[in-house]
Amino acid sequence: MKIDASFVTSATSASDFPRDGLSEIALVGRSNVGKSSLINALARQRVARTSAAPGKTRLANVYRLARGNAPPFHLVDLPGFGYARRTGQAQARTEPAFEEIVRAVFARTPAALLLVDARHPGLESDRAAWEWVSSTAAGAAVVATKIDKLARGERIRAMRQLESVFDASVLPFSAVTGEGLDELWNLIDSLVNRRNRNNQPSRNSQQPPKPTARSPEPPPTGPTKPLRRRPKK
Ligand code: GDP
Repeated sequence: MKIDASFVTSATSASDFPRDGLSEIALVGRSNVGKSSLINALARQRVARTSAAPGKTRLANVYRLARGNAPPFHLVDLPGFGYARRTGQAQARTEPAFEEIVRAVFARTPAALLLVDARHPGLESDRAAWEWVSSTAAGAAVVATKIDKLARGERIRAMRQLESVFDASVLPFSAVTGEGLDELWNLIDSLVNRRNRNNQPSRNSQQPPKPTARSPEPPPTGPTKPLRRRPKK
């Protein structure tokens, strides 16, 4: 199927976002988790810059994608969180510039994908991110990146652990082998359709989410169920 993909803009504040009303899917994840690689895999070309040096981006990069005859949508690549260069430790980033751009993106009530590294299931910063993402976005799902790096046994263990931590089905994905790419497109289609159906003005403009590890901000209208939540055992 034909894919059209292009870079639209780098946004630093609410006024920088496109005003064409296309559906938006926010990509959330720690620095170096593989967001740019995932975007390039979807686009089938290098629209996003990948890097081995984490924590560089302070902007939300917006890409326009369309597959086949489906309506186009915007992928909004949020700055990676949770990387402190000095210590190499995972930490919640609380810098004003980061909070401002997250607030601006989520005030637009996008759907969202939380990307987590398949090799590190259950990091505190990922759990905290899932709390605010799943309760604030108009539909959300978890994608486990770099799945090619795990051997069969490790992979089964990691997927089990991830699904238990997030209490949601988790999509295994590899930008290197292309595993999960079709399923990711299907997931995106369902998120875009779902968002189009529920297309309402922002519910969150009064109280945006705060991507802090300790105190995720509860949304004013209560949680939206994450997509494809697994039944409780
Ligand atoms: P970002 O900071 O989240 O945008 O991460 P990048 O896409 O720049 O990826 C960070 C590093 O992980 C790069 O060295 C990528 O080549 C590598 N990487 C990303 N996705 C995959 C994957 O699916 N498999 C493997 N083996 N490496 C990956």
